[in-house]
Amino acid sequence: MAERITGHTELIGLIAYPIRHSSSPAMHNEAFAKLGLDYAYLAFEVENKDLEDTIKGFRAMKVRGCNVSMPNKTVVHKYLDKLSPAAELCGAVNTVVNDNGVLTGHITDGIGCMLALKDAGVDVIGKKITIVGAGGAATAIQVQAALDGVAEISIFNVKDKFFENAEKTVNKLREKTNCKVNLYDLADLDQLKEEIASSVLFINATGMGMKPLEGQSYIPDTTFFRPDLVVLDIVYVPRETALLKLAKEAGCRTLNGLGMMLFQGAAAFKLWTGKEMPIEYMKEVLDIHY
Ligand code: NAD
Repeated sequence: MAERITGHTELIGLIAYPIRHSSSPAMHNEAFAKLGLDYAYLAFEVENKDLEDTIKGFRAMKVRGCNVSMPNKTVVHKYLDKLSPAAELCGAVNTVVNDNGVLTGHITDGIGCMLALKDAGVDVIGKKITIVGAGGAATAIQVQAALDGVAEISIFNVKDKFFENAEKTVNKLREKTNCKVNLYDLADLDQLKEEIASSVLFINATGMGMKPLEGQSYIPDTTFFRPDLVVLDIVYVPRETALLKLAKEAGCRTLNGLGMMLFQGAAAFKLWTGKEMPIEYMKEVLDIHY
């Protein structure tokens, strides 16, 4: 008889809508199995209207925790007891941990990005980076980079509804951290070129480059890049975006979003289980090579 699930197995949930496409269940269950940990990770399609009941249910069932994705990331804090400093600054939660009935919200996207950079040997502490984006993922990266000790962050975004987000993030980071933070309109390509020229790392943290914007980039040509610049695109479908192709052409080291995806999961895994995810094994499973 199969022994994978027993009366002792603990549940970790993933609550979002839509969510059936997610690779998180496969990733976490593979890691639990590899380490012989008695947990099971399951995805549940939950929208905002059912979120409060879901969290109440998880509390009642003493579920160990869950991941939270859109549209629940910016709402779930209402039903939790505590927030990590990064989750508080981001106004978003992607991981919930239940410690004997006390539910704490964390955000591991930014931690995942910083850990993925470290794992790839890219050192940004005390240095300047330029990042495009003002949505959930971009904000998490900006907050964690500032908390971890990146010296200066230049943020660019198009003047859409997310620009106001970026203004709020900049104000919070100026108030709460020692990081120098600048904000510009992405339409100002001369400024973008100038900021990239004095940065060690350039990050795309927008949906540019993935469907429906696959094959597109807001960087017009290779003159924006130089060989000692590292370029990270947090998109991972496709694995090589138009931006990364251009950066490669300019001789830059390029990284896609798979590393961040793995390490945001690893950070959540550690919060629930107290154990390190078997990173090298998971890299093989997910076909991540630097
Ligand atoms: P979001 O909807 O919160 O933010 C979208 C961002 O894209 C905003 O900054 C918006 O201004 C920008 N944008 C939209 N259309 C644009 C355009 N035409 N030109 C320039 N900018 C444009 O989304 P999110 O959750 O922050 O995710 C952003 C991207 O990051 C997605 O592609 C997502 O798949 C990826 N992501 C990757 C990871 C990872 O672990 N690698 C984690 C989270 C998100």
